Parts: sequence; structure tokens; C-alpha cells
Amino acid sequence: MKIAKDAVVKFHYTVAEQGQEPLESSKDREPLAILIGHGNIIPGLENAMIDHAAGDSFGVDVAAADAYGERREGLTQRVPKKHFGAQKLVPGEQVVLQTNFGPRAVTIEKVGMSVVDVDLNHPMAGKDLHFDIEIVEVREAVAEELEHGHVHEGDGHHHH
Ligand code: ZN
Repeated sequence: MKIAKDAVVKFHYTVAEQGQEPLESSKDREPLAILIGHGNIIPGLENAMIDHAAGDSFGVDVAAADAYGERREGLTQRVPKKHFGAQKLVPGEQVVLQTNFGPRAVTIEKVGMSVVDVDLNHPMAGKDLHFDIEIVEVREAVAEELEHGHVHEGDGHHHH
């Protein structure tokens, strides 16, 4: 079947800043499983998948506005050092911060004695991205998945 709204799609991806080396790839792990039309992934990538089918491979350029948005000023926050656990804190590098809203990737700006300044912009904000996509599987969603707005298999799915 072709990819359309409410389809479940499993795919591998490699993402790079346009014209640069890859930043990240799913190739060495399980493919990502998403539900189309429910905001599971960035809009530019979701739109590019429509009408593709299992077995298709394609590349797509996604401008920052259709990816992780433009960088926003004023998103620096001062956080007590203890929130970072044992992670190494190097300015310019990314770490994962445990927040009330779940884990969040942040960029270290400045490391003090007891506090750390972090930039809360998404690490890929403001970047024009290139994705290489390989569609692994396409299937219809079941009713419960549509109700929840996400796929019910594999990791990354938790019910409360
Ligand atoms: Zn669910």
C-alpha cells in the first residue's frame, strides 16, 4: 500500500545538515515506526513520504522551518549541576537533561561551580537538513493506534 494519512510506516533514516557528513542514522538499530498525519515526525519529512511504498529509497531536503524550526534567542536557562548526573559537561556539546516533561536534548553553554547554562533550542533548530529515507514497511493503523495518535509496537511507547 502507498503511504497516506493514518498509515503506519517503518523506515530507516540518515540525517545530515545539507552538504555535510551525516549527523545521525537509524541503520544500526530498529527502524523508526510512526503514524502518518499525527505529528509524530517533522512536517517536511512526513510530506515527502506520502505516496511512497515499502522498498522505496529516496532523499529529501527539508528547510529548517519545516524541520525543527528556526533557532530562538532567549532560550538559555540556568540549571543546577546535579540535574545532569554523571554526564560530562563540555561547552558546545549536547547532553540529555531530565525535565518534568521527560528527557530533552540541550546544548551546554557555560559550566559554573554549581550551575550550568544550557541552550534549550533543539540541537537541529535553524538547520536545513537532508534526509535519506528507506521505507521498510507500510500497514494500516489499528483503531487504538489512531485513537492514541502513535504506533503500538517496539520501543518508545508508554502507557500510564
Ligand atoms: Zn498508545
